[in-house]
Amino acid sequence: MAKPRNVILIVADSLRYDAVYRDGGPGIPYLENNGTQFTNARSAACWTLPATTSMFTGMMPHEHGTTSQSRWFRDDVPSLAAKLKRSNYKPIMVTANSVTTDIFNVSKDFDEVHKTWQFTPTKHKWLLQTVLALNRPRVRKMILKPKDQFFDKASEDLRQGIIWAQKTSHDSFAKAKQLIEENNAKGQGAFVFINLMETHYPYHIADTFTMMNKSLLGKIHEWQVLFHFLSQSFLKKDNSFIKQPDLDLLRKKQQLAWKLIRDDINNFCREMHEDKDNLIVFCSDHGDNFGDQGWQYHFSNVTDGGNKVPLFWLDHENKKAETKTYNVSSRFMHHEILNSCGLDNEGGTLLRESENNLPVMQSYWYNNEEQTMDKYKYNQLAFIEGDKRFVKRAGNWMFAPVGNNGSEPTFEFVDKNFNPLEELNLQGERKKYLEKSLKDFSSFSDKIMNKGK
Ligand SMILES: [Zn+2]
Repeated sequence: MAKPRNVILIVADSLRYDAVYRDGGPGIPYLENNGTQFTNARSAACWTLPATTSMFTGMMPHEHGTTSQSRWFRDDVPSLAAKLKRSNYKPIMVTANSVTTDIFNVSKDFDEVHKTWQFTPTKHKWLLQTVLALNRPRVRKMILKPKDQFFDKASEDLRQGIIWAQKTSHDSFAKAKQLIEENNAKGQGAFVFINLMETHYPYHIADTFTMMNKSLLGKIHEWQVLFHFLSQSFLKKDNSFIKQPDLDLLRKKQQLAWKLIRDDINNFCREMHEDKDNLIVFCSDHGDNFGDQGWQYHFSNVTDGGNKVPLFWLDHENKKAETKTYNVSSRFMHHEILNSCGLDNEGGTLLRESENNLPVMQSYWYNNEEQTMDKYKYNQLAFIEGDKRFVKRAGNWMFAPVGNNGSEPTFEFVDKNFNPLEELNLQGERKKYLEKSLKDFSSFSDKIMNKGK
C-alpha cells in the first residue's frame, strides 16, 4: 500500500452530529460519494482541549492528562504531528481556535501554526475597529464577565475577536491549499490540521455576525441568551437563565452555520482528493449541548449532544462510498492515519470494528469562577455497548438507551449492585479493555478531583 502524499485533518468545531445529519443527510456530496462516513462515532471528550488532544494521541483524557483541570498538553506525550514528521510530513496547523495553539501547548509538535484571525482579511473596517475596541482590557472586563485565566489568555491576542465576528472558512482553506502546494513543490508532504470555528458559539449564520432576532427587543434578549450560554450561568445558580425555546434557537443557529460552511468543505475536499493521493479526515472535535440532559454549551458532560460527532474518512487509495454503523471512538483516527502512512501503532482501529474501539467518553467538572454548585462537581466516564449507554457518575452507575434523531433519553440510576461490566456478558478483550479504562480513570479522577481549576 502506497503512503498518502499529504494528510489533511479538518475539524468543524463543536458541530453536533444531528446538526449535520438532518433534512436527509449531510449535504456534502463529494465526501458522501467518495469516502467512508461513520454514523456512530463519539469523541473521547466534550470540549476542544481534551477532545483534540485525544485525536492527536489516540488516548483517552486520563491517559494524556489534558483536562479542564490541567489545561496543558504534556511535552512527554507524543502526538500525531511529531510521529508524522518523522515520516517526512511537515506538520502545519491552520486554526481559527486559540485553544489548539500554544496557550495550552496543543500545537507543540507543529512546525508552523497559522492563526486564521491573523491572516484573514476583515470583512468590514468597522468590524476590525469594533473588535479591537471591545478587546481593550478595561472594556473586556466589563463585557466578558467570566474572569477565567483562559479567557484572559485567549483575548490577549487582540485580532482574535475577528473569529467571533465573521466567517473565515474560505480563507483557512485557501491558506491550507497554498501551504500544501508550496511544500509539495519542494518535494515534501504535509500533515495539515485545520480547525474551523463557524459552527462554534456564537454560530455564524452569515458572512458577518448576525442575530436571529430582527426586532430591537429580540436582539437584546438574544444578547442575554448568548451571554448566559457562554458564561454557563446554570452551573452557578438554580435559575433557569435560558429557557428551552432559546436553547432551541441556538441549536437552529448551529444547523444554519453548518449550511454556511459545507460547500467550502465539499469544494476543498474535492480539490484536494479527486485526482490526488491525499488522505483527508473531516469531523468535529465534540458537540454542543442545547439543554440535552440538562447541559448547556460544551463542558463537563458525557451526552450524545456533547460526544456524538460527524466523521468522514477520504482514503488516498480506496475512493468509494461506504457507511460504517458500528460504535467507534473518533480518537482511533490517530491509529488509522499512522497505519495508512506505514507507521507502527498499537491499539484500536477506526475502519473496522474491533474488541477495543468502542467509545469511552470522559468529562471533568468545570470550575466556573469558583462558583460551580456542588451537584456539578464530579468527573464522569461513559461507554456505549450496542444500543445501551452507561455512565459512572460520582461512584454510581447510570443507564440510558441510545437516542435517535437528536432526542436523548436521560441517564437514570440503576440498582446499586448492578455493574454493567459484569452484566453485559462482554467478550474477553472488550471486558478487559473496559475494566482497565474504568480502573485507570477512577484513580486519575481521584487524584485530580479537588483541583477544579
Ligand atoms: Zn471544540
